[in-house]
Amino acid sequence: MWRRLSIVGPLLVCCGCALPAHQDLLPDDQRLIREQLVIHSDFALARHHRLLDELVARRQEIANQLQLPISDERIYIYLFATREDYRNYFTDRFPFYPDRRAFFIESDTRLTVFAHWGEHVAEDLRHEVAHGYLHAVVPNLPLWLDEGLAEYYEVKRGQRGFHAAHLQELDRQRRQRQWEPDLERLESLTSVSEMSLTDYAEAWAWIHWLLETTPVRRALLCDYLARLRTTGAADPLSRSLGSQGAVSTRALLGHLQLLVDRMGVEHGQ
Ligand SMILES: [Zn+2]
Repeated sequence: MWRRLSIVGPLLVCCGCALPAHQDLLPDDQRLIREQLVIHSDFALARHHRLLDELVARRQEIANQLQLPISDERIYIYLFATREDYRNYFTDRFPFYPDRRAFFIESDTRLTVFAHWGEHVAEDLRHEVAHGYLHAVVPNLPLWLDEGLAEYYEVKRGQRGFHAAHLQELDRQRRQRQWEPDLERLESLTSVSEMSLTDYAEAWAWIHWLLETTPVRRALLCDYLARLRTTGAADPLSRSLGSQGAVSTRALLGHLQLLVDRMGVEHGQ
């Protein structure tokens, strides 16, 4: 979400140049390798910490759900003990970057996550590592799709991507007539700096609708990812919905309303 940042592309040239000069500031007291993940931390972390076990398991879950292959490309995770250490590193190395809680950076040769062991570390790592697993096998993910999937997978296991905070925010804005779904507008966004919290929430909503309603919709998303993976490019997903666009918008709103109603029942409202 907006407290985090994913960087892909030209900025990475700068990242690559800067890395050696500040390497000593990176956490390196402990290194754990868990399948695709290489976790560097500046504090002791149990090899089978349940958060690490969850991150490792996510790899197969994502592959199964999205019908993607497994990659063995390593994802490097730098985990700082404190927010202060993390900020010092970024202030020193990337003084012009926004102050974000966690980063995912893709370069031509490396997938890297930066985070710190704070209150939100679990959702931050689930989100950023999901970017890593996806980028390892799918090139040129459209921004909204990349973020929507990462938001879906930042929710802990067993919740089927149900993101209560996003749902409540979209419901509130919809009731105040401040928001309507618009997939083509989301598709037009090309930089995370353009994405508001509502945009992240809407990206999550489209992904949740595609993955959690009907097999046909899930297949549509899987086919789209397969096209990207094999050809490196694909028309906007909204075109796959074709003349169904308006119908899809109504169906998305219906899906969100069902989720709101279900949440109300679960909370005894
Ligand atoms: Zn992200």
